[in-house]
Amino acid sequence: MKIYLDGKFVDSAEAKVSVFDHGLLYGDGVFEGIRLYSGNIFRLDEHLERLEYSAKAIMLQIPLTRAELSEVVCETCRQNGLQDAYIRLVVTRGVGDLGLAPWLCPKPSLFVIASKISLYPPEHYENGLAIVTVPTRRINPAALPPTIKSLNYMNNILGKIEARQFGALEAIMLNDQGYVAECTADNVFIVHKGEIITPSASQGALKGITRSSIFSIAQELKVPIRECDMTRYDIWVADECFLTGSGAEVIPAVKLDGREIGNGKPGPITRSVLAAFRRRVLVEGTRI
Ligand code: PMP
Repeated sequence: MKIYLDGKFVDSAEAKVSVFDHGLLYGDGVFEGIRLYSGNIFRLDEHLERLEYSAKAIMLQIPLTRAELSEVVCETCRQNGLQDAYIRLVVTRGVGDLGLAPWLCPKPSLFVIASKISLYPPEHYENGLAIVTVPTRRINPAALPPTIKSLNYMNNILGKIEARQFGALEAIMLNDQGYVAECTADNVFIVHKGEIITPSASQGALKGITRSSIFSIAQELKVPIRECDMTRYDIWVADECFLTGSGAEVIPAVKLDGREIGNGKPGPITRSVLAAFRRRVLVEGTRI
């Protein structure tokens, strides 16, 4: 496997960063998780824009332009002979001393890994996921805006650990006011009376790239869609529920905390959203 690391392609065994890199010491950096489908990088430009916004928010200068980033991501896929992949693009603060000060880190590090995809097991796309609500709350935007896709994922990792303790693969995280924010690594949607509803970013959701494509899919399918504050009650009484993410794509959720959502089976709107999504991933974005 060839990894792009700071201007060079190196073997994975040589792809190393320093123990003084603040990405490692403090989670100081930003990243994207991107998908390659049959030679098409789904919504690459939107991912690069979000990366730039994340970097701007933490006052990190990305060492490459948008066009250069795009080329580096495509070239990493080409170098590895991939047509379908999960791509991880990371920019760290770079090497500094043992203090926090990012201004003592003169050179950010940028690397790209293109690798195989590990998805949820296929039967869950057919039968749906049983998810839980975890006690760990999604971090307050005043502490660290969840819209920043930073390397500091401890909040989500605590949620993921709790999900596993309860035997679930994914979990709903509430914000500190008790509203549904998102899942540990996915956005959440419900369908109620023919309408698709999702929490807004201001409730603690990442502005997911898959999430934003659901808005255009809903238009294509002529299904009304809107952002709205959501509590667990709204999921309890929803007809359908599904989760979205670059890794997960669109996956039905059929149980929450042991309660059936709707009739406990993936619903018709979820199925048509998933079908429309699978068509779009082949055409929207950038060919390598
Ligand atoms: N929320 C969180 C916390 C995530 O980590 C992800 C995955 N990147 C998502 C939502 C889904 O975002 P996207 O569709 O851009 O992958």
